[in-house]
Amino acid sequence: MTSGNSGASSLGDMDELYEAIILDHYRSPRNTATVEDPDIDLEVNNPFCGDEFHIQLKVENDAVSQVGITGRGCAISQASASLLAELVEGKSAADVHAAVAAVRRLLKGEEITDEESEILGDLEALGGVRKFPVRIKCALLSWIGLDDALKDHLKK
Ligand code: ZN
Repeated sequence: MTSGNSGASSLGDMDELYEAIILDHYRSPRNTATVEDPDIDLEVNNPFCGDEFHIQLKVENDAVSQVGITGRGCAISQASASLLAELVEGKSAADVHAAVAAVRRLLKGEEITDEESEILGDLEALGGVRKFPVRIKCALLSWIGLDDALKDHLKK
């Protein structure tokens, strides 16, 4: 049973605002409905942590028209998948790619430009994860999978 927490969560000393965003997405993941007849359908997993996600996308005119992500894993991987699901809906492949690149840089601890900061919005919450290097893979799992799958799809 999870009890009400008083700072003793598994996320350690992550910034409170960031933690609130992560927990919100973890508890109520966005866009989890199955996508009918998806153009992209892939499974990603991180065996080190046991994170597994099923990502489905509908792509129209080089943009994501519908997205569904389901799965399970640690709080970071689930929150990250939900943030991704929220971000990509309606976005062009180029925008998705820019967001994925920005998230990667954020998690590496690189400087984020104002432009990238705008793309990221709530996603900057994921930046708190870089304090926990073993979780970076969890945070990037669905992002890298989706980005690669989208690129492959558009080549066809
Ligand atoms: Zn994980």
